[in-house]
Amino acid sequence: MGTDTSTETTRWDLIVIGAGPTGLATAIEAEKLGISTLVIEKGCLVNSIFHYPTSMVFFTTSERLEIGDIPMTAASAKPTRLEALAYYRKVAQHYKLNVHQYERVERLEGGSGGFCVQTKHANGRSASYAARKLVIATGYYDLPNRLGVPGEEQPNVFHYYKEAHPFAGSRVVVIGGKNSAVDAALELFRHGAQVTLVYRRPQLSSSVKYWVRPDIENRIKAGEIAARLGYQVLEIEPDAVRIAPLGESGGEPAGGERLPADFVFALIGYHLDFNFLEAAGVRFQADHQRPICDPQTCESNVPGLYLAGVVVGGRQTGEIFIENGRFHGKIIAEHVRRQLAKSGAAAVIPRAGSRS
Ligand code: FAD
Ligand code: NAP
Repeated sequence: MGTDTSTETTRWDLIVIGAGPTGLATAIEAEKLGISTLVIEKGCLVNSIFHYPTSMVFFTTSERLEIGDIPMTAASAKPTRLEALAYYRKVAQHYKLNVHQYERVERLEGGSGGFCVQTKHANGRSASYAARKLVIATGYYDLPNRLGVPGEEQPNVFHYYKEAHPFAGSRVVVIGGKNSAVDAALELFRHGAQVTLVYRRPQLSSSVKYWVRPDIENRIKAGEIAARLGYQVLEIEPDAVRIAPLGESGGEPAGGERLPADFVFALIGYHLDFNFLEAAGVRFQADHQRPICDPQTCESNVPGLYLAGVVVGGRQTGEIFIENGRFHGKIIAEHVRRQLAKSGAAAVIPRAGSRS
């Protein structure tokens, strides 16, 4: 891996960090207003969606996932992950967005009118870019929540679920009580895994998709999926998960119930990269650690630094989805245009061939 440092001489009006649905929507709305925009993404286009479970179907109907006024078509009312990937890819191509993929933003410096964005490419090269305004649209999917129990770092414990086939015939414990856990438990069961669902509350969450709830409830009632509702995980052993009713220690030593497990999926949600935001100067409110962000403009407490998509919700990750986060782009683009006009900054036309 090389360690060269290259410096882009182009000064962008706007740099958007993250090419999720929100980052792409923001870049489209900005370009429509003549604001030269670069999107920097550490993975591929819509990297989070790419990493979602292979056979995932969105709970949202197509028209509510659309960005840039481009219609989304799908074989059914609710698109699949593959249909969504195809859609966002096409939209980015249609608008000829400047997206640098596989380049992670590591540091932000400067302030409104003169930000410096420092990156590292997957090939090891470093680069830095100048921008008048910045948008952080980095989502939450890169950082899974942790149980904080012994054994969580074992190689047979996963915090993401991709597909069921490798687990056929295995004993699997799924931890969590919302959509990721319930979807995984059902799919694993249908692929021949012996599944136990462990959830800390006495009933599955009301946010489980209404069309999935009867399925999981009936599988539990029929004893096809074992469930321990109202239980906490005490420890993960190499071949078992030790649990006890919530609030109980399970007695000593190493008490509680031992659920034999070849594999464990701790599907207990995700959180923002608070350190990254903090290093950029963003401050947080006490309420759910929401970043300070003006709802009228999406500007954070750092002038010229905007927040878009799920990062706006702080620890409330179930508040903003693609459905509503996609509208942040327009709000930001309009405010950036007004601010650039006020400061007399002429729009910068990106160098020919700067798209990658
Ligand atoms: P993301 O899509 O997460 O995009 C953030 C991007 O930033 C990523 O591509 C990431 O790689 C990049 N990034 C992060 N850090 C850096 C960095 N330092 N440098 C460069 N790039 C970086 N919502 C709905 O509306 N309907 C649904 O049906 C639905 N289903 C879902 C199913 C699952 C399994 C999950 C987990 C979520 C679902 N959601 C759904 C929620 C939805 O996917 C998110 O709300 C949405 O992806 C948020 O978009 P975003 O652009 O804010 O963030
Ligand atoms: P989530 O909605 O944040 O739910 C996390 C679950 O884990 C909750 O049940 C929570 O319990 C539990 N939990 C959290 N911390 C825990 C801990 N320390 N110990 C034990 N349990 C803990 O996460 P998710 O289910 O992964 O969903 C993430 C996002 O993806 C959501 O927006 C969801 O809507 C979306 N999603 C959508 C689909 C789809 O079909 N389109 C599928 C999957 C996920 P409490 O209930 O007590 O808080």
